[in-house]
Amino acid sequence: MDCIFCQIVAGKVPSEIVHQDEEIIAFRDINPQAPTHLLIIPKRHIPSLIQLAEAELPVLGRMVNVANQLARGESIAESGYRLVVNCGEEGGQVVPHLHLHLLGGRRLSDAMG
Ligand code: AMP
Repeated sequence: MDCIFCQIVAGKVPSEIVHQDEEIIAFRDINPQAPTHLLIIPKRHIPSLIQLAEAELPVLGRMVNVANQLARGESIAESGYRLVVNCGEEGGQVVPHLHLHLLGGRRLSDAMG
């Protein structure tokens, strides 16, 4: 239980939760890189994208669906937004709990890395 996102799921670390259902929660990133910067995570501890088993793939689709709903709620669905998954050290992953970054609210960089 030393995973910071598991602690957010358990309510042991405060966060600004913007969505919660049986399987998924979403909250505002503590260090936002854009006017809208939300994190969408499975409640279950899945360490990274590469550790997502085939049987667990549906949760990723549901995370994308939540991200799309949140983009509408943040009024960035029309202007556009970006979903990012960092995987592993060179992919820039710092927190070892699968998460989608939802970024938008300004023109995002054309650079992809
Ligand atoms: P990544 O580099 O893809 O692993 O992204 C981890 C993200 O988690 C970063 O954007 C951090 O700012 C964010 N983060 C870390 N701790 C917290 C926290 N307690 N509440 C909200 N966001 C956090």
